[in-house]
Amino acid sequence: MNEAGSHGGTEGSHGRTLTQLAVLDVGVLEKVTPKKRAALGSWGVDSVLDLLWCYPRRYIDRTRQADLKDLAVGDEAVVLATVLSVESRRTRQGRSLVQLEVDDGTGSMRVVFFNQAWRAKQLRAGAEALFFGKLDSFRNKAQMTNPVVDLLVGMEGHVQGSAKTGRIIPVYPQSSKVGLTSWEIGTFVAEALRRAGVFADPLDPQRRAELDLVDRTVAMSGIHAPETIEETIPARRRLAFDELFRLQLALMMRRHALEEGARAIRHRVDPAEAQRASGGFPTLVTRFLDSLPFEPTGAQRRVLAAIFDDLAGPRPMHRLLQGDVGSGKTVVAVATMLAAVQGGHQAALMAPTEVLADQHHLAIGSMLKGLLVPDPERLGGERPLSVRLLTASAPAAERRSTMEGLASGAIDLVVGTHALLTDAVGFRSLGAVVVDEQHRFGVEQRSALREKGRGAGDGGDPDLLVMTATPIPRTAAMVVFGDLEMSVLDELPPGRTPIVTRWARSDLEAIEAFERVRREVAAGRQAYVVCPLVEGSAKIEAVSATEEAERLAAGEFKGLRVGLLHGQMKSSEKEGVMASFRDGALDVLVATTVIEVGIDVPNATVMLIEDAGRFGIAQLHQLRGRVGRAGHESYCYLLGDAASADAAVRLEALERTTDGFELAEIDLDLRGEGTILGSRQKGRSDLALARLARDRDLLEDARRIAEEITEGDPSLAQHPLLAEELRATLDEEDAAFLFKS
Ligand code: ADP
Ligand code: MG
Repeated sequence: MNEAGSHGGTEGSHGRTLTQLAVLDVGVLEKVTPKKRAALGSWGVDSVLDLLWCYPRRYIDRTRQADLKDLAVGDEAVVLATVLSVESRRTRQGRSLVQLEVDDGTGSMRVVFFNQAWRAKQLRAGAEALFFGKLDSFRNKAQMTNPVVDLLVGMEGHVQGSAKTGRIIPVYPQSSKVGLTSWEIGTFVAEALRRAGVFADPLDPQRRAELDLVDRTVAMSGIHAPETIEETIPARRRLAFDELFRLQLALMMRRHALEEGARAIRHRVDPAEAQRASGGFPTLVTRFLDSLPFEPTGAQRRVLAAIFDDLAGPRPMHRLLQGDVGSGKTVVAVATMLAAVQGGHQAALMAPTEVLADQHHLAIGSMLKGLLVPDPERLGGERPLSVRLLTASAPAAERRSTMEGLASGAIDLVVGTHALLTDAVGFRSLGAVVVDEQHRFGVEQRSALREKGRGAGDGGDPDLLVMTATPIPRTAAMVVFGDLEMSVLDELPPGRTPIVTRWARSDLEAIEAFERVRREVAAGRQAYVVCPLVEGSAKIEAVSATEEAERLAAGEFKGLRVGLLHGQMKSSEKEGVMASFRDGALDVLVATTVIEVGIDVPNATVMLIEDAGRFGIAQLHQLRGRVGRAGHESYCYLLGDAASADAAVRLEALERTTDGFELAEIDLDLRGEGTILGSRQKGRSDLALARLARDRDLLEDARRIAEEITEGDPSLAQHPLLAEELRATLDEEDAAFLFKS
């Protein structure tokens, strides 16, 4: 196949394509015996491409190894040495002991392993390995005890020369479980590279020059077989770029695929009308904003302007709204929905849980009380706006009447859970949907939504606003939500006092926290207590929350009105408890994390989180955001020890800052991208080399070029090499969606 030149795109070279390598079984390599083939397979390496995408964990520069003769007792060191002899026996206490004599040419030492009998098989005389450890001395001889070992040369007892020739030795991730050593992987990779020869490069020379990237062949040999450590730097950069580039291409293609065939509703956001209205927004929106007891923040205005542009524009909106806890996302959501209602459409808000849907319904209902909507069929041309709640647990009769209202258009605005997307629910004209949740609103939901909009025949596709209360760093957002436009509410409403946060490590400090609760309650305020997380069992969690509520009511909070909220309660019970707390009939609400998102009781000023070390940063930040919502001085106490060093970093970070974006960056550093990107990252599209925190510039470049390319060629018809590469590396479902043609 000739990819080169003929298409006039960015592609410009012959050579081995990733697709060819992806269909080539790794067993074709001479060095890969059937036994090793099986081992590679159980390690997730099936094709030659899988193998080439196993990158070295680190490199050893032979010339920079510590020489044994220069080391002193107490030094931490990496020693590259050859095994001279191996002895295996039992200690008097019955522990197995493997003792090696090793030599690095400048000196020798003893290496001792306790309870690792298998080392005798791994490290035979003649083997060459790296020993990481602390040098001590035993009977006057230098010794390392239980060092970390990377075997470089010498499986099966015979010394191999290849790894000895290079000055730089790549160290591959190795798994003694499946019986593969770094050295073996290195020899497989070397053979694969040699046989692959020159790689086809989807980036032409101009593009590479512009981006300061080496070509793919140079990059592959630079990462696997560098002559100097310096060579690995441009190699990693190029390969990391490729990872990000493929991901951005897939996202941009997804965006185009969603837009293709979309029928936008051109919402009537008439600029002249907007001009006339104070503040520059359409009338219903203006009336709503005017009715609020506060002025919108600059950020709210800016974001709304962008949204209204989208609404009036020729494509359905797909926009993500990020905003820290308390930044005022609800106002933006409501104004967006009202803009749709203004033009004679309906709007829906979807919440992740029934409790939240209920709460949003209440809050929005009271915000919109008395608002009139244009209705040409009515005398006076106006009628009261109608807002309803739709959840799966509502009584049948109520559900029926809500559904009728949605179908007839009598209901303007509906708040509900995912139940809104079920087939039974039909709208007269659904114009805008706001999704309030952290997880992804997937392709399936979007198409369900599209159907809702078109249900009425000549209807268009509703505009979509996804809100997330968990800020994620911009880099991560570009990867996770890369197919959405993005808006950020980066300004908190004025008058917020930062929430005083204390990590109460000791019981004594915990006492202070409980005392604070009593003092605040005495001053007329309210408090939350969040019970420990019980991983994997909502039932046990509910039981322990119940016990904790009883314990506190009889102990620390004796005399206070203590309520209980957990995930195992019926929705009606939950709603009842929330209502009592909201109305001030309860002083303290003991709860599981069901209160994490969105609960809004402005009078609550203390958040007490038990066993806080078990929660993640984002979750703690969300929980803390439940207080400090009405200008009262507020407090958050994180109780309990840190179970790990990471937990301590998390709790200290919470103590130090209330900025959600800063916390998100810390979270990214702590957990790496894997967990943040979550299910979005699977299989071969994983980021192996790219690091969001470090490769921001590469990511921006990758995005820009992906945008450029897909703008003129949304299905990559003129970029067959790229198309093929994506197809080979995306998981099947994504590939099927993007290349459905
Ligand atoms: P979020 O959902 O982003 O966490 P909310 O929309 O619930 O935040 O708003 C938090 C609180 O701030 C609410 O009580 C809301 O009424 C109030 N609020 C929103 N916007 C403003 C503003 N511009 N000025 C003052 N208070 C505001
Ligand atoms: Mg909210």
